[in-house]
Amino acid sequence: MAGDFGPLTKGVFPTILFETHADEMAQPFWDAAKDDRLVCQHCTGCGTFRMPPSPFCFKCQSRDHDFRELPGTGTIYSFTVVRHPLHPDLIDCCPYVSGVVELDGTQGAGARMLVNIIDVDPDTVKIGDRVEIVFEHVNDEMSTPRFRPITS
Ligand SMILES: [Zn+2]
Repeated sequence: MAGDFGPLTKGVFPTILFETHADEMAQPFWDAAKDDRLVCQHCTGCGTFRMPPSPFCFKCQSRDHDFRELPGTGTIYSFTVVRHPLHPDLIDCCPYVSGVVELDGTQGAGARMLVNIIDVDPDTVKIGDRVEIVFEHVNDEMSTPRFRPITS
């Protein structure tokens, strides 16, 4: 029984928000996601990438920024395997991997995303594994980003 979460797939945390509720800082990310593109806020003052977006650069305090498109690939920086559901109706998606992915194209400076990593064996996934982004197009506004192993 899947409760209010719809059909569940083992290893895939379901989309539970159907609107982005994005502010002006985050809207460019969600706009690009609709087109299967990953963009990251970039400080035009010092070049630091920021994920999630923020009004000020944490390094130089500049407000000036743009959004740069990234290749959508990265490396698992850290992860955990979730074996206990956050809600009883989520049991059928467990176990799933929740990880921090360091994003390629951010100068190795540590722009990272906290995401569900899918299509991996929770018993063998490891830090340093190479992954790529994949978007689930939920509706006209919302596309949920996840990462999966690079297979080729
Ligand atoms: Zn800066």
